[in-house]
Amino acid sequence: MEQKILNYYKEHEAEIFEDLKNFTLMEASTSDLDELLEVRKFLEKLIIDRTGIEPFVYETEGRHDVVKFSYGEGEEVVIVGHYDTVHPIGALPYVIDGNKLKGPGVYDMKSGLVSAIWAIKAYQELGIDPGNKIVCVFNGDEETGSKDSTEIIKENVKNAKAALVPEPCTAAGDLKTGRKGNMKFAVTIHGKAAHAGNAHKDGINALEEMAHEILFVQSLTDYEAGTTVNVGVAKGGTKVNVVPDTATFNVDCRFKSMVERQRVIDAICGIQTTVPGATVEVEFIDGKLPMEETEGNMALFAIAKECGDKLGLSFTSKFVGGGSDGNTISAMGIPTLDGLGADGDHAHSPEEFLYIDQLLPRMALLATMIPKI
Ligand SMILES: [Zn+2]
Repeated sequence: MEQKILNYYKEHEAEIFEDLKNFTLMEASTSDLDELLEVRKFLEKLIIDRTGIEPFVYETEGRHDVVKFSYGEGEEVVIVGHYDTVHPIGALPYVIDGNKLKGPGVYDMKSGLVSAIWAIKAYQELGIDPGNKIVCVFNGDEETGSKDSTEIIKENVKNAKAALVPEPCTAAGDLKTGRKGNMKFAVTIHGKAAHAGNAHKDGINALEEMAHEILFVQSLTDYEAGTTVNVGVAKGGTKVNVVPDTATFNVDCRFKSMVERQRVIDAICGIQTTVPGATVEVEFIDGKLPMEETEGNMALFAIAKECGDKLGLSFTSKFVGGGSDGNTISAMGIPTLDGLGADGDHAHSPEEFLYIDQLLPRMALLATMIPKI
């Protein structure tokens, strides 16, 4: 089946790249709401033109609509991807540079959506039963944290036996079986102001207290466990001759497991003061849950590996730092495999590109693994 699908893609190479070009040139970053609507409409038309399937659109209040369509019978395998990009409109040209195809979102992840649509077209035209009901869910706000779409995604994956995310693979071509979670904290310390000369003893120095707390928070980092805790911003004080009564600092934390997440939450939310009289308030700002390397995720990787071998692709599984909607889905206990999209590099940068000669084999990887799930 691997060669059959790859050959089909080769026969339709010009159309596939034409679809990718037209889709990429329909540009919108997450905040370009009017243009995003146009991208959504283009996407709907592309789905209808290629598969004959009429998609369903969830219109959201924040105007980051979710496009959904399904194909096949059986248990559900969900393909999740996004049609927004991080690039301001017009910032990047669409160019071919040797084996590199450059353009806004061409790699992250317009090519991933084209891959999902063409997988269904390939099944239809080659008479392949995908053995599952494929449910594609495409959102328009992934790059800013999927605020409008997370609940819709959750609703659509809750009964799925697997979720596949055609986000780019790693720069080395590896698939993503785990992704770190993230969260933030805003810490405010209250002391007592006093004249630094006349009444130094009466003051409670909020910056002194903050110094202790910053050292404590930084010490929560555990590289072995994959946990990083970073105090990135600290502010406090007004004048050099005043004992400062307020100080604030902000913390970013990334972690691989729910256990580590809880350890850091407990430590920071339960922080004890050192300077007598100082008080502390901690605001917890939740982010993405970790995509842990579960057995289910690794089982999906094993299927991908088997298909990849037959397509001449060599890759391993990687636990990566950045989050995607795969985090949310995996944290629900649904086996999830990410990085099933294009091979290239420099996502979120003007240098973003994909390797032209790798696109069809990577597309064939997605299409050939689904019937084996
Ligand atoms: Zn992406």
